[in-house]
Amino acid sequence: MAVPKRRVSRSKRDKRRTHDRLKAVNIVECSRCHSKKISHRVCPNCGYYHGEEIIPQEEKGKKKGKEEAGKEEAGKEKADKKETKKEAKK
Ligand SMILES: [Zn+2]
Repeated sequence: MAVPKRRVSRSKRDKRRTHDRLKAVNIVECSRCHSKKISHRVCPNCGYYHGEEIIPQEEKGKKKGKEEAGKEEAGKEKADKKETKKEAKK
């Protein structure tokens, strides 16, 4: 098994770590909907980048609707199961 020849000194270790700092993301205003977004990224609010629609907003809405419907159905099923359990106890 490979083992380091000598321990890295506090000085060397700390000097290496001077470059480890994370930079803050660059927040700019969307030119279309004027909400805050990360620069050089598609706007999460309107789905546009450089005046072009990248993420169609209709699809996004449909997908959300489906997910919500699925959750509702699952909730109903759970409720039914609870009811059946109660009935069984009686
Ligand atoms: Zn936008």
